[in-house]
Amino acid sequence: MLHCVKFILRRSMCYSGKMSTPETVAAHAREGVPAALNALCAYLRIPAISCDPAHAEDVGRLAQTVAADLAALGFDDAVARSLPDALPCVTASWMKRPGAPTILIYGHLDLQPVKGETWTSPPHEPTIRNGRLYARGAADDMGGWVTHLAAIRAWFAVTGELPCNVRLVIEGEEEIGSPNLERYMDAFPVCFQADAMVLTDCENPSIDIPGLTVSLRGILELTVRCTALEADIHSGLWGGMVPDVSLALVQLISRLVDEDGRVKAPRSEVPDAWCSAAWAVPLTRDVIREGGHLCAGVEPLPARGMPPAAHLWRQPAVTIVATTLPTLDIKKNALRRSAEAILSVRVAPGMADEDLKAAFDAELVRDPPGGVKVSLEWSTQPSGAWLYEPKGPAFAAADRAYTRSWGRPLLQVGVGGSIPFVALFGRRFGDLPLILNGVIDPLTTAHGPDESLDLGIFEKAILANVYLYDELASALTGA
Ligand SMILES: [Zn+2]
Repeated sequence: MLHCVKFILRRSMCYSGKMSTPETVAAHAREGVPAALNALCAYLRIPAISCDPAHAEDVGRLAQTVAADLAALGFDDAVARSLPDALPCVTASWMKRPGAPTILIYGHLDLQPVKGETWTSPPHEPTIRNGRLYARGAADDMGGWVTHLAAIRAWFAVTGELPCNVRLVIEGEEEIGSPNLERYMDAFPVCFQADAMVLTDCENPSIDIPGLTVSLRGILELTVRCTALEADIHSGLWGGMVPDVSLALVQLISRLVDEDGRVKAPRSEVPDAWCSAAWAVPLTRDVIREGGHLCAGVEPLPARGMPPAAHLWRQPAVTIVATTLPTLDIKKNALRRSAEAILSVRVAPGMADEDLKAAFDAELVRDPPGGVKVSLEWSTQPSGAWLYEPKGPAFAAADRAYTRSWGRPLLQVGVGGSIPFVALFGRRFGDLPLILNGVIDPLTTAHGPDESLDLGIFEKAILANVYLYDELASALTGA
């Protein structure tokens, strides 16, 4: 009955020419922002840290809470699903519009750990300061999918229904690399059936510019081992005729990069048109300085004629993430027997892993300093690079939705990092429209201390979602 009354109300408002239905829903959603923020804060108080078995119960408790909330909101089959040796994954659906398209919304409810970080306010006690909500997970990614719940709540409140069918998948293991997401896809395939997917765990280039993520760098790990001696020996007696294996390791790794520390080869071919457009991405020196936590007096790497976005998103990079080099606490005047380093290698989108591996291998084994023995081992669990071309009516629809909420369409951006679930969705569902957005911005410090969510973004994201369902429903109907 309530449904009918609301339906009549909606039609009459349409015909009276005052406000369209999506505008009425958006107005309602705007009034609901404080309640949405409260709901978000309640979730953020549960320390659902997926990498720590001591918090597995918290992940489970949060998944159960979310599933119960989704059922109360009006979803069917809202379940915290489980598989052996996996943390739960919440799925829910609202499929009451036969013939209308189905949109899948993905987010994750698990958190990064906070050990060793210094926070201004406790990480699991959400606190608002200067227009930002501070808490672990505020933007990555609890805020991301809570904006969808808020938009859906407004649609139900105003019209009693949604403009399209909706499935929700809220994972509990994203922060540990989504090791079981594909098992969930295989075990519950219906939960992943959709005509378009909105994957909400990505970044906006600024608080005023909404981002559509279209590329990721891949990640590989390479262990470089150098062996020279059968025992540590006196560096004074033998230095000058016997190789220093620690130094040799550093020299070898240095071969991979130019004087700026950027990978020399292989380089990715980035189209000129892409580079010209990428200057519009607001990655200014100040943004890089602040976002990169640069010490006073340290400058961002020189651009060398390329936009910073190209260096960050479209070229490979290498970082030393672990070594066995002598540490301060075991200082001794000795030439060491062996040395080892693990390199984290980012593969540019569009670049074949094998090409990069071959180039690195050749450089590292060629004529090693001092004739040290070199062995190389690549990791067996890489996460692939991803390059996506957004085209078709779904993206035009998304641009219309964002223009109504943010005042401008989505800006195509990349991510320098590697997100296993995106590579997975790309592999399994790459022929569907995949809309990668989110509520993170350059000041969020996801995975770090004082992670925060901009409250302006939170509201604009809720309104964008309100319009997005309506625009996608029209754009994809009969498509
Ligand atoms: Zn995330």
